[in-house]
Amino acid sequence: MNTKVSASDQTRPKTAIVGSGFLGLTLALRLTEIGHDVTIFETSPEIGGLASVWQIGDLTWDRHYHVVLLSDSYTRKIIEEVGLKDEFKWVETKTGFYTDGKLLSMSNTLEFLLFPPLDLISKFRLGATIFYASRLKNWRALEKVTVEQWLTKLSGRRTFEKIWKPLLKAKLGEAYKETCAAFIWATIQRMYAARNSGLKKEMFGYVRGGYANVLKRFSEVLEEKGVDIRLNARVEQIEKRKNGEVQLVAQDLSGQAAPETFDKAILTCPANIAAKILPQLTETEKQKLENIRYLGIVCASVLTKKSISEYYVTNITDETPFTGVIELSALVDKEEFDGNALIYLPRYLSPDDELFDRTDDEIEEYFLGSLEKMYAHFDRKDVVEFKISRVRQVFPLLTIDYSKSVPAKETSIENVFTVNSSQITNGTLNINETVQLAEKFFEETFAKAV
Ligand SMILES: Cc1cc2nc3c(=O)[nH]c(=O)nc-3n(C[C@H](O)[C@H](O)[C@H](O)COP(=O)(O)OP(=O)(O)OC[C@H]3O[C@@H](n4cnc5c(N)ncnc54)[C@H](O)[C@@H]3O)c2cc1C
Repeated sequence: MNTKVSASDQTRPKTAIVGSGFLGLTLALRLTEIGHDVTIFETSPEIGGLASVWQIGDLTWDRHYHVVLLSDSYTRKIIEEVGLKDEFKWVETKTGFYTDGKLLSMSNTLEFLLFPPLDLISKFRLGATIFYASRLKNWRALEKVTVEQWLTKLSGRRTFEKIWKPLLKAKLGEAYKETCAAFIWATIQRMYAARNSGLKKEMFGYVRGGYANVLKRFSEVLEEKGVDIRLNARVEQIEKRKNGEVQLVAQDLSGQAAPETFDKAILTCPANIAAKILPQLTETEKQKLENIRYLGIVCASVLTKKSISEYYVTNITDETPFTGVIELSALVDKEEFDGNALIYLPRYLSPDDELFDRTDDEIEEYFLGSLEKMYAHFDRKDVVEFKISRVRQVFPLLTIDYSKSVPAKETSIENVFTVNSSQITNGTLNINETVQLAEKFFEETFAKAV
């Protein structure tokens, strides 16, 4: 007689998902639709990962700024599926440039032509580079050259130094030197798609109530379908047992860790964390996961009584403590913020940067001091609340020949999978790419098997 006890009843495979970011949530939705009995384990007290929300002043709003593009078909579809189709709002936004101590608009072709830091020939080469990149379909060859080599060849050294380099440093820090050209290609493709008619008009969208609204609906839908969402549950280890079951050990807030068994486990946490959770991986698999280099972020949210500019994004080419100014209230109706303005000050940096270890008060002083210098009318007395998010692993650096070193989704441990942003080889990290990754993985691995 066969005495083997399966972790599942015979009809519903028991599947554990590690992480409740958009990858984990999308996979939970799809798997439950094909009859899996899904449990999500999330180390934080709330769902959403990088897209999660927090309290700022009296508001509950996104910890990091998020917009949706008209071309974000995967994001739009999943938000529609959780019932928020009519909650999108689309707005024409403007882009600013802070350069040589001045704030300039660069929101349309005329402003681009009048943009003072570059002569006419440099502007032409810059425009031609953007146009060329927006039309280029085969990005594979771009993995072989650094972004600096590629942009200097197309735009010229002066334009690279004056425009591209500060923008690259803003997003990548010094790591721009090791980044391949596929990164800027993906960025241009995405920004070009945001403009609904050539380079003329920029349309961005958001969901009323922000991601607080989206995540609340998403968790309601999942719970209605029977998904068990465990918060404050950090997965420590997953092992395959001799009887074929997948044993998962998660620690709760009190430090208690009880093993549970599943049929399958999908890890959506950052690659290096997955390597620690899975001791049975081969050395080669572990190395691939551990070798992924992430960039981190220190991102301040400033809730303040007055707007500082009309630009949703202000790119900065001067040296400042933060690498851009995102005025969300130039996109989102101020009624959402009780009439206040909400501004984000991001700084992307290496995970071991000393800024991570500075106190909140030090960072506040450093950031607000600089904001006062940039915007004469900004007064810190108007600030209702200043809050800092620190994340050491935000997105993987696209280095030369990146796609050759991407970790596989299927591991050597049967029924255990690792799916994470390191497998997006030509992207900029956004929810659209994240949901797309989840959908494709689901299609290839589960949907075909049904
Ligand atoms: C500053 C900033 C701005 C952004 N702006 C935009 C934007 O405008 N538009 C857009 O579309 N996208 C934007 N994004 C990107 C978007 O947030 C991400 O693409 C998306 O949230 C990634 O989802 P994920 O599930 O892959 O990863 P994550 O959200 O990182 O989820 C991973 C989850 O795993 C959990 N976890 C880790 N270890 C464990 C463990 N041991 N046990 C249990 N759980 C664990 C984490 O807590 C986390 O919740 C932005 C991101 C940032 C940081």
